[in-house]
Amino acid sequence: MTIKIGVSSCVIGDKVRFDSGHKRSHFVASELEPFVDFVSVCPEVGIGLPVPRPTIRLLDRGEPIGVRLVETKDADADYTEKMAKFSRDKAEHLSGLELCGYVVCAKSPTCGMERVKVYRESGYVASEKVGVGLYTQALMKRMPWLPIEEDGRLNDPILKENFVFRIFALRDFYDSVADGVTRHAIVAFHSRYKLVLMAHSPSDYKALGKFVADIANHDINEFFTEYRTRFMQAIAKRATRKNNTNVLMHLQGYFKRALDKQQKAELADLIHAYRKGTMPLLAPLTLINHHLNQNPDAYLQQQSYLHPYPDSLRLRYGL
Ligand code: SF4
Repeated sequence: MTIKIGVSSCVIGDKVRFDSGHKRSHFVASELEPFVDFVSVCPEVGIGLPVPRPTIRLLDRGEPIGVRLVETKDADADYTEKMAKFSRDKAEHLSGLELCGYVVCAKSPTCGMERVKVYRESGYVASEKVGVGLYTQALMKRMPWLPIEEDGRLNDPILKENFVFRIFALRDFYDSVADGVTRHAIVAFHSRYKLVLMAHSPSDYKALGKFVADIANHDINEFFTEYRTRFMQAIAKRATRKNNTNVLMHLQGYFKRALDKQQKAELADLIHAYRKGTMPLLAPLTLINHHLNQNPDAYLQQQSYLHPYPDSLRLRYGL
């Protein structure tokens, strides 16, 4: 099954910005591209604005009017309603496509995900912290489970790894229920992500475990919807070095009988080196995968933690 990713058109190189330029992201347009199918949207073009066009911004007009999307040089040119309707309709349409992620363009009053500048009538910035582009607000509201990330933040190896991991996990979730949303399919999926949840959020690991144990007492379609959001929000939390170390030690326990003294010491040293930050996560994981090949274990082999996405993406080198 293809992995569909929403993307701000300018981020994959389309010349749709106000100045006829683009904001092509090398990672998105070149490295991620072979693994996904893009669904590209430029909401400003979508509401009929031309290329090039006057710049627009978020303007806080105070109560009771609130924040408006207006032209920078002519605040009477107000696109708020048009953009809100376009965004609602587009988000509704996209929610039926099994999108697995969305990359939006940072700082845009339309597509920005966070810290978009909101201006006051005086021309000063009202707040740089709270602004979210109108289109992206609608995406987040309609699909709270969807991994959304800004182009610039994907230069951070930890944010990038987490985002790509969530994309593959959501695709995996949809594939798991492709033959029907059943209790068995969801329980099997959850079982494959136990180590992942332990690494990303031990508290969600416990809470979701209880939720899944009670699956028989829920309407399956409602369960699917709630589980998807809770699971995706849990894995959006960063897998810390401490939590990863706990998972590695947990994995180590599976090989207690299979490894000799020297092999055990070698694995323990690598886990210790990862915990101290002198080795990347990939080092102990590679050794664990090697031992797993020698000593197959059905439960471990199906754990997504050990093979979360194609190795060729090389995302774990920086962790
Ligand atoms: S940031 Fe969004 S609205 Fe602006 S050019 Fe890019 S896709 Fe279009």
